[in-house]
Amino acid sequence: MSYIDEVIKKTIEENPSEPEFHQAVKEVLESLRPVVEANEAQFRRDAVLERLVNPERQIKFRVPWIDDEGNAHVNTGYRVQFNSAIGPYKGGLRLHPSVNLGIIKFLGFEQIFKNSLTGLPIGGGKGGSDFDPKGKSDREVMAFCQSFMSELCKYIGADTDVPAGDIGTGAREIGYMFGQYKKLRGLFEGVLTGKGLSYGGSLARTEATGYGVLYILQEMLKCHGIDIAGKTITVSGSGNVAIYAIEKATQLGAKVVTCSDSTGWVYDPDGIDVEALKIIKEKNRQRLKEYPKFRPNAQYSDGKGVWTVKTDIAIPCATQNELTLEDAKTLVANGVFAVAEGANMPTTADATDYILENKILFLPGKAANAGGVATSALEMSQDSERLNWTFEEVDSKLKNIMINLYHNIDDAAKVYHMDDNFVAGANIAGFEKVVDAMEAQGIV
Ligand code: NDP
Repeated sequence: MSYIDEVIKKTIEENPSEPEFHQAVKEVLESLRPVVEANEAQFRRDAVLERLVNPERQIKFRVPWIDDEGNAHVNTGYRVQFNSAIGPYKGGLRLHPSVNLGIIKFLGFEQIFKNSLTGLPIGGGKGGSDFDPKGKSDREVMAFCQSFMSELCKYIGADTDVPAGDIGTGAREIGYMFGQYKKLRGLFEGVLTGKGLSYGGSLARTEATGYGVLYILQEMLKCHGIDIAGKTITVSGSGNVAIYAIEKATQLGAKVVTCSDSTGWVYDPDGIDVEALKIIKEKNRQRLKEYPKFRPNAQYSDGKGVWTVKTDIAIPCATQNELTLEDAKTLVANGVFAVAEGANMPTTADATDYILENKILFLPGKAANAGGVATSALEMSQDSERLNWTFEEVDSKLKNIMINLYHNIDDAAKVYHMDDNFVAGANIAGFEKVVDAMEAQGIV
C-alpha cells in the first residue's frame, strides 16, 4: 500500500465518526500524490503525513451560560491547534448547532494550507461551539461569549493562537470575546481578529473574504482571456462572505442574480440589491423572506434552489457540502464555465470531480476564500505596530495577495503537469511551504 493510502486508512480508523475530516484529508492527500511519491522514503522516515494529519493539540471544554429566564445551559467549546510550523495558529471560531470535533478538525486541517498560500506567517487552527446565536438576545450572546472565552483565554494569545470570526461569529461576538479576554488576562493585545475599528480592528477586514474571492476569480478569468464584466453569477449564502462577494462582483460589472440562507433563496433578475441585503442580514438580522419587500421583481422560495438557475459563474458562500453532484450536473448542463468556492468545502467530493472532468475552471475554497485570513494577518501586523492602515492600503495589499496566490497555485499545478487543476495546485503549493518548515524544525 502506498504511504498516502496507509495514512488515509489510519486517519479514518483512528478518527471514526468524523466524515468531514476524512473528506478533507482524502481530498488533500490524494492530490499530493506526485509530491509525496517523489519524496516517499524521506517523508515516511520523518512521519511527515502522520504529523500533518494529527493536530498539535485539541482542546474541548464546557461552556455554561444563563438565559434571560434564569435557566442554565451547557454547550461544548472546541479549539483545535493544528499546525504551527509557519506561524501562530490562526483560524476562525464557528458558532452553529452542527459544530462537532470532526467539523472543527476538517476546517483546521484546510486552514493549514490556506494560511500557507497567503504567503504570510500564520499556522492553522480552528474552533467554535455548538451554540446557536440565532434567536438569542444580545445579553444571552454576551453570556455565552464570556463563558466561552473564560476557558479559551488559557490557550490563546497574540503570539500563540489568534482566532477570528466564522459562521455565527461576527463583530458582536468578537467584541464580547475580546472584552472578556482583556478582563481576564489584563492584556490589550491582538488576540482576536475581526475586531471593531475602535479597538484594534482593520479597515477592509469585513469585506476581505468576499472581495478576495472576486479578486482571484477575476485574475483567473483574465489569464483565460475572459472579462468578468457582463457575466451572470449565482451566489449561495447571505452572510459575511456572500454579501461582500456580491458587492465586489457588482462593482466589477457582473450581475449576481441569487443568494440564500438556511431557510430559502432569492432570485432577482435585476441583480441582487446588496444594500437591501445588508439591511436584512447585518442590521435587522432577519430572514431572506424579507427581500421581496425591497425588490418586488424578485422571487423568494423556501428550500434550496440557487444552483438550478442558469449562470456563467457559481460562487457557493454558505457552508460545507452545499453543492452536490446533482447540482454540479445542472450547472454544467446550463453552461457554467467557472466555480469559485467562497465557503469552506461547499462542493462535495464527487461534485468537484465532475466539475474538473468537465473542464470547468474551479477555484477551491482554500485559495478562493484566503483573503479573509490574509487580511486577519494584516490586522495582526497593524496591532503589533500600533498603527491603522487606510482602507485603500489594506484593500490593495489584499488584491496583490490574491493575484500572487493565483499565480502560485497555477505554477504549482503546471510543475506537475496538471494545468488548470487548481485543487492540486493549491494543495501542493500550500503543502510544500509547510513541509519545508516542518522538516527544518526537526521532529516536534
Ligand atoms: P455567516 O454566518 O455570516 O453566513 C453563513 C451563510 O450561510 C448564511 O446565509 C447562513 O444562513 C448560510 N448557512 C449556514 N449554514 C447553512 C446550512 N447548513 N444550510 C444552508 N445555509 C446555511 O458565515 P460566513 O459568511 O462568515 O461564512 C460562510 C462560509 O465561508 C463558511 O464555510 C466559512 O467557514 C467560510 N469562510 C468565512 C470566512 C470569513 O471571513 N467570514 C473566511 C473564510 C471562509 P442563515 O442566515 O440562515 O444561518
